[in-house]
Amino acid sequence: MSQPDPCFGSEKMLSADEARAALVAAAQSVTETESVHLHEALGRVLAVDVVSPLDVPGYDNSAMDGYALHSASTAENGASLPISQRIPAGHPGGQLAAGTAARIFTGAPMPLGADAVVMQEECEVEGESVRIGRRIAPGTNMRPRANDIASGDCILRAGDKLKPQAVGLLASLGVAQVEVRRRVRVALLNTGDEIVEPGDPLAAGQIYNSNRYSLTATLQQIDCEVIDLGQVEDTFEATRTALLKAAESADLILTSGGVSVGEEDHIKAAVESEGAVALWRVRMKPGKPLAFGHVGKTAFIGLPGNPVSAFVTFSLFAMPFMRVMQGRTKSFPVPSRARLPRAIEKPLARREYIRVRLEHQLNDLPIADAFPRQGSDVLTSTVWADGVLEIPEGEELAENSALNFWSFESLLS
Ligand code: AMP
Ligand code: MG
Repeated sequence: MSQPDPCFGSEKMLSADEARAALVAAAQSVTETESVHLHEALGRVLAVDVVSPLDVPGYDNSAMDGYALHSASTAENGASLPISQRIPAGHPGGQLAAGTAARIFTGAPMPLGADAVVMQEECEVEGESVRIGRRIAPGTNMRPRANDIASGDCILRAGDKLKPQAVGLLASLGVAQVEVRRRVRVALLNTGDEIVEPGDPLAAGQIYNSNRYSLTATLQQIDCEVIDLGQVEDTFEATRTALLKAAESADLILTSGGVSVGEEDHIKAAVESEGAVALWRVRMKPGKPLAFGHVGKTAFIGLPGNPVSAFVTFSLFAMPFMRVMQGRTKSFPVPSRARLPRAIEKPLARREYIRVRLEHQLNDLPIADAFPRQGSDVLTSTVWADGVLEIPEGEELAENSALNFWSFESLLS
């Protein structure tokens, strides 16, 4: 008999780690790929390993402006060598005549018969000759062929997200087009009859829609295609219709708000009517309610409505899911460490992620300075903070304890 999925009870209390592991395990990568030019490659996810077609550098070359020679032509108490040729970068010279030196410039091919370069600052030119004051070891100031990459080396892996350095590396191999996964399509919808769009006037009891904008911006930043379905009326029918529309074209449906079990919360029932959903109560602060399931074949993640909770749960749970969808190999960033400036004598039973700013310390880990108001509606804290410090559940902590820290930058990349 197959085991029931521990994460798919209708209302489950999960630890933050269990919730993340369940999401990562359930995520499926998009399989379609496309070929893009290097100019469009930044932030895309490689679909295939890249094997170098070339040696880089392709020939032995000079690392300095100076004089190329054979090390055997130099001597302990100096030697004067006739300058037999001049080799600028891009202009290969001829064979080096024995006992002579070639004027050479950085990046220029080493002439056959030379095995070292003496930098010009160390040389004394005397008419048509150059004087080298000491013995020079073979290989000095020379960059041998394939010093960086040998033809056939695997230099980037499928699942790597292309950063600027990687784009440069591909260019150095002469690669102009790369095969990447297609972008993940995310349909975004917000609930809440109290929500008004920025630019419109506010009536009594209304607030501006911030989740739509923070989530859209985040999805753009991580290179997703956003299908913005806007605001959905707080009724079962409107929610169901919007979800069906979203499921038509998206890989993932992301909602904010309306995910609890109040009578104004319709997300759960509407998702259930067209698929399946589990409502997780994650033992963490901020955040708690997190819904996960599917509408038809499209994955569904329901974030809490409170702006800070939506942002933090997106960063900690939706992001790992999305990285897998994007076809990336690493689903979650490695934390760094920072010090807690105060003691915690009465630990909470749930894990806390507090918004902190790091203060650099000489010869020690940085100190994590907490924003004074940690409420889940205090959006200023997310702008002020560098990231979140993880306060483990149920543990007394001494002042200066070293804890896990994730920058927002690492969580949202
Ligand atoms: P809910 O999860 O729908 O009960 O919402 C929880 C809190 O988040 C309420 O105070 C909502 O007004 C607020 N909220 C929900 N959606 C948004 C949104 N898109 N932008 C700003 N605040 C929101
Ligand atoms: Mg609501």
